[in-house]
Amino acid sequence: MDLYEYQAKELFLKHDVPTTPGEVCTTPEAAEAIATRIGKPVVVKAQVKVGGRGKAGGVKLAEDPAEAKARATDILGLDIKGHTVHRVLVAQASDISEEYYVSFMLDRANRCFLAMASVEGGVEIEEVAANNPDALAMIRVDALEGCTEAKAREIVAAAKFDAKIADQVVNVLMKLWTVLVKEDATLVEVNPLVLTPEGQILALDGKVTIDDNAAYRLESYEGMVDREGTDPIELRAKEFDLNYVKLTGDVGIIGNGAGLVMSTLDVVAYAGEEFGGMKPANFLDIGGGASATVMANGLDIVLNDPEVQAVFVNVFGGITSCDAVANGVIQALELLEKQGTPATKPIVCRIDGNNAIEGRRILTDANHPLIEIVDTMDDAARRVAELAAARKAGK
Ligand code: GDP
Ligand code: MN
Repeated sequence: MDLYEYQAKELFLKHDVPTTPGEVCTTPEAAEAIATRIGKPVVVKAQVKVGGRGKAGGVKLAEDPAEAKARATDILGLDIKGHTVHRVLVAQASDISEEYYVSFMLDRANRCFLAMASVEGGVEIEEVAANNPDALAMIRVDALEGCTEAKAREIVAAAKFDAKIADQVVNVLMKLWTVLVKEDATLVEVNPLVLTPEGQILALDGKVTIDDNAAYRLESYEGMVDREGTDPIELRAKEFDLNYVKLTGDVGIIGNGAGLVMSTLDVVAYAGEEFGGMKPANFLDIGGGASATVMANGLDIVLNDPEVQAVFVNVFGGITSCDAVANGVIQALELLEKQGTPATKPIVCRIDGNNAIEGRRILTDANHPLIEIVDTMDDAARRVAELAAARKAGK
């Protein structure tokens, strides 16, 4: 989960990373009130989960509360790279002598973390990397050792920070590392980290990505979930506790086991080429114990995706036998009917493995007008792609 700047700064505050005080709000009047409380010039900043807000007019200075209100009026509702601004952060403005860049990120390929730092911050770091790669220091950080003081000094030296501020930057790096570890983040980035004319180092911007796998042990996680900014279908899937990822395509996919679902995505994408480029609309793994309720929740989610034209239920019976899965599909359709949201899209079922013959018999006997049984995964993928293309064309 990516955090908003104001949320990142709340974490900075919690772990003593020096930053400027501020508050978030949704109206110009509230922005004015915050600026009054701060009692000094402020900066009004669009809260959207995309970079380059400054260039897009989403970051403005204001001398007094009236000006803060005016700038908030300008910024609220602005469209920044497809993101509408619903909130602004009103923070105490600071004077800037120099702008730097520092970050830690998970480096999966090398099984470690990567620290990056540059004394040429403030601009997009990709630009520095492309135009002046020598100005961007990249240092590996061992996941178990972490960013010790020695490591922080190595980063500061590699990025050629001035000796006068070295100690302060070392301190900030170690605090940012604490944020990364304590908050289970996979990215902590500050751009710009600034030097004020008074010689103070401050994090003026913050970008943090939290590892969703750690949600269960993070007290603050639930409070940081952004309902407006998340795909509504993904949100519902989360409420059902389903492993669902929205993709862009026309064929809904339900399977049991991540490996099977991943290969189902592949075969559907391949088969779909023949039918005008039909692609999988989602990843949905209903796991090992595919009960009727889990199947009903899964079908509910997938059928409710307006993009979906047809659904492929691809199950390999293991511990849960195919007759249970088949009953699950039938009961799921009954359940949806009872809820007043009956299924209307074709469903291609391929069920194999433990007790497959009985499972197929149950589906055949049910004689449901939407269900088609196909014996092999490849043939089922072709058929569902064909049905999806036909339904799409018919619309
Ligand atoms: P981004 O464009 O989305 O990365 O947003 P930032 O928070 O990084 O702000 C963009 C730029 O606005 C920064 O690089 C600064 O130059 C400027 N800026 C942000 N906050 C302040 C501030 O408090 N005072 C001054 N003078 N400039 C600021
Ligand atoms: Mn920035």
